[in-house]
Formats: sequence, C-alpha cells, structure tokens
Amino acid sequence: MTRELLADVLEEIALLLELKDENPFKIRAYRQGALTVRNFAGDIVQLAASNQLTGIKGIGEALRDKLHALARTGILPFHQHLRAEFPPGLFDLFELQGLGPKKVKALYTLLVIRSIAELKAACDAGKVATLPGFSAKTQANILDAIARRDTFAGAFTLGAVTPLVTEMLDTLRLHPEISRCAVAGSFRRAKETVHDLDFLVATKSPALVCEDFTTLPQVAAIIACGETKASVRLHNGLQCDLRAVSNKQFPFALQYFTGSKEHNVALRARARTHGLSLNEYGFTATAEGAPATTPEVHEEADIYHALGLDFIEPELRENRGELEAAADHTLPKLVELSNLRGTFHNHTTASDGLDTLEAMVAEAIDMGLDYLGIADHSKSTFIANGLDEGRLLDQVAAIAKLNAAHPEFRIFAGTEVDILRNGSLDFADDLLSKLDYCVASVHNIFDLTEEEMTRRLCRAMENEHVTMLGHLSGRLLLRRDAYAVNHAMIIDCAAETRTLIELNCSPLRLDMDWRWWKRARDKGVLCSINPDAHSTARLHHIGLGVRLARKGWLRRQDILNTRPLAEVETFFKTPKAAR
Ligand SMILES: [Zn+2]
Ligand SMILES: [Zn+2]
Repeated sequence: MTRELLADVLEEIALLLELKDENPFKIRAYRQGALTVRNFAGDIVQLAASNQLTGIKGIGEALRDKLHALARTGILPFHQHLRAEFPPGLFDLFELQGLGPKKVKALYTLLVIRSIAELKAACDAGKVATLPGFSAKTQANILDAIARRDTFAGAFTLGAVTPLVTEMLDTLRLHPEISRCAVAGSFRRAKETVHDLDFLVATKSPALVCEDFTTLPQVAAIIACGETKASVRLHNGLQCDLRAVSNKQFPFALQYFTGSKEHNVALRARARTHGLSLNEYGFTATAEGAPATTPEVHEEADIYHALGLDFIEPELRENRGELEAAADHTLPKLVELSNLRGTFHNHTTASDGLDTLEAMVAEAIDMGLDYLGIADHSKSTFIANGLDEGRLLDQVAAIAKLNAAHPEFRIFAGTEVDILRNGSLDFADDLLSKLDYCVASVHNIFDLTEEEMTRRLCRAMENEHVTMLGHLSGRLLLRRDAYAVNHAMIIDCAAETRTLIELNCSPLRLDMDWRWWKRARDKGVLCSINPDAHSTARLHHIGLGVRLARKGWLRRQDILNTRPLAEVETFFKTPKAAR
C-alpha cells in the first residue's frame, strides 16, 4: 500500500458517487480526503495500517474507517462494489480533458458509451453533438482529447513520478545485497515528462535483487524477470526496468542509461579521439592512440575526467553545448535547492488556495525560508474566487499584522493579476503601487494569434508595477498545449523592461520551458522559482523547480529568490529601469 494508492481510491470513489448522483457533501468529503492523504505531513500509510487516523482534519469517521481497512487489507469492498456497477472501460473516459462526471454520465446513460473506442465512434457518427448539454464544438473537443490521449499514452509528468521514485529508491537502499542504486534515464535528466523509469543497482546477487524488485508494493504486474534484468508495471501504469550490474560496471551503466542518446553519441565520439571505446560496460582501448592503461573509473565523474572533461550534471546532458563547455571548463555552477531563501507566487484561502495565510507562512518558516510572497488571484479570475480591490487591501493589512508578529521572517504582499485581452491589467496602477510586487498571468482567452498574444504579454511587462510574468505559455503538461506565443520576443521584452520571468514549478506547468532559460539568462533576464502553491504541501514543489532551472543552465545568481531578504527588499523598492 502506498500514499498514492490510498488517495487514488478515494478520488475514484468520489467520481463514482458523482456518476450515481449521490449527495454532493459526501462526494466532497471523499475528494477532500484524497487531498488530505496526498498532502499529509507524516507516514499516513503506517498510521492507517495501525488504525491511528483519528482526529485528522479533512478525514471524518466514515472515511477514517475505510482508510484503516484499505491500508490493512489492500482492498476496500465499498470501492469494489461501486466499481462493479460500471463497465471498466468507462473509467478511461475520465482521463479525457474536458469530460467531467456529468458529461460522462450523459454519454453512458443516453448513448450507452462504455469505452473510449465507443466514444470515438459516436463522435465520428455525429451522435455526441446532439445530446443535451453537448454541441458540435464539444464533440470536436472530445475528438481532440482522444487524439491527444493517444499521443501522450504512457507518459507521466516528472512531478507525478518523483514521489514514487523516492519511495522505491528508499526501499531499494535498505536491501542488504544492494551497494549502490539510482534511477537513470530521462527522470535523472529532469525531463518534464517521462515514459518509463530505469532503475540501476550494483549488486553481487543480481537474480535475487531482480526478484525482490518485482515484489515492491508499487508493482502491479511483472512483465519480465531474469538473471540481471526485471521489468514491471506499477499501479499507475508506469513501466519500470531494473538492471543489476557489478559495482565496477555501475558508473558506466549509470552514464550510459542516463543518456540522452545525443549526448552519448557525442561523448563516444570524443572517447574515440582519446583512443578509447566507451559503452555501458566500460572503456576499452582501440588500436590507434590508446593510452598505456585504460583509465580507473570508480564514479561516473571519472568517465568525464578521463576524457578531459569537467563532470557534466545529468540535467545538462542533452547535447546542447554541454560537452564544449565541459572541455573549456565553462560549465555553469548550477543552482541548488539549498540556495533558495524564499519564494513568490503562492495562494491562500483568500482565493483558491487550500490553506490560510497563517498556515502558508508557518510552513515556509518550517522549510527554513526567510520570506514568502503571497499572490492570490485578481477579480477577473472569479472561478478561483479572485480578490477585488477591497479584499486585496484587507489582505495587505493582514500581512502587515503578521509581519509584525514574525520579525525574523518577511511576508511580501503581492497579487497574481490577470492580464486582460488587450494586455492591460485587472487592477489599476495606484492599487498595484501599494503592493510589494506583482505577478502578471494570462488565465483566459487563449485563442489569440501569436502576434496578438505576444503583444498582450509585452504590454503587461511594460507596466512599471509588473515584477514578473507568470506561467508564460499557459501549457498544462500532457493536457493542454501552450498557446501561440513568441518566446524569443517575450524574452527580449523582459530584458528591456527589467521584468522577471517565473519558472512556475507546478508539476503540470514547469513553465517557462527549460529550453528557453539559457537564452533568457544570457540576455540578463532574472528568473523566479515559483511553486504557485495552492496548499502548504505544494510549497515543496520548489524542489522540482530547481531541477528544471538546472536543466535550463541557471546558476544561483540568475534567480531572484536565492537572494537574501534585505537584497530582495531593496530590489522591490528600486524602480524597474534601475534593477
Ligand atoms: Zn495563474
Ligand atoms: Zn497562481
């Protein structure tokens, strides 16, 4: 049993109850319960398995008893009976963007649609558009979503798999026969989405370790299990491969399976110029120009050093200039999580956050941060309970009071102001001037031309009060493409107007994309690593943001929230042109 599984079962129960038109309060209780389980600070699985979930906010008595049973036995009869009332293929429909329980219910009851294939056929035949509450546009959107699902089949966001990887590695490290272990592949390179996980272990008992790997609690099915390799599928559908190698081979296998393919091709070419051939097993001397002895390799870094290169951090291994920089000793010293002193762009219960201002501050203090920026939504984002002028001023006053109570910590009063269609802002300048800083973001009207959207964002950045641009492209990984926008022009405008661009580290966004950060950095654009946290737990997404910032070649000095409090205070008080 894992935390993810517990939460997934509760979420699915909520969906099924919604399909059955059950009491909305009951549905909300399950949804809230799932959220509480996901964000709980302690070992909730252990607590549940020992019947100790009493008195936890967000988990009522009925839910508590179900969690106890589920954690102890691995199944919940209530859930299984509910599930049995519906055809299994129906659950795939919920994965489609834009299809909520109400629409799925209509499709199921009115057209007897039980699977994605049946839904596609019904859309192709034009039947879906005629249902009450549906239109030709809904039907076209559904077809788009089905196509998108096929494109992204088997892909997961980096943020979604990170907790799983941590859990699995923690377990493997405890194995008495495993001396070293790691996850290689695109996960180690911090790609924003991954298709599988490549586990690697050093061991003297490969067959035993392979077998034990297949019994991890996260494993749903065994695909293959051999002498040195095992493949499994996890409960969430993710495929994981394990390779068991000797301690001597480990650094070579780690380097090889981390990739990228392009990086490795370039590295092998460089090895050949040193008279060496490089593969996943080691170096071998080629006839021509080989050194007298093959280099000693204990760690992955030794491989790079043997080829006259500085060690290249995994995040940079995309063959985008890192080998040249490693040869010239000009690789950047990449930012680390411990460099972050605070963070901006966070929500509270004043708009659509789950936790209060006080709780968010307490968590930030607990994380060892020195400051926290609050940026709740502005009034146009009414679906997220955006603040109007009066409520924002109330919040500014509440923040001032809280600041007085925490002299060792600083809360910055800000806003995530909506950028309106023409690039003007949802709040007037005189109100914005009363805030410490301002994040400006687009939340609607995504269908402008690239030129219109670029102009819209640039106009917002030209405002003296806009400190930083929020989630630049509007993309939601594996769900919604970026809107049309010219990144190069936005970066130029940010440089000219001394506006920051945020690296939004919500796992679904990771926006601005890592491929653009080096260019922005070289033009002198500052980054802010922003969790866009809607709960205390999500403040911790700054760790994910740091991984992506590293992938974008960013150093400590390229990021505003690595600066000490006093410097940030001065920064905000300085006019943009002088920053
Ligand atoms: Zn936003
Ligand atoms: Zn936000």
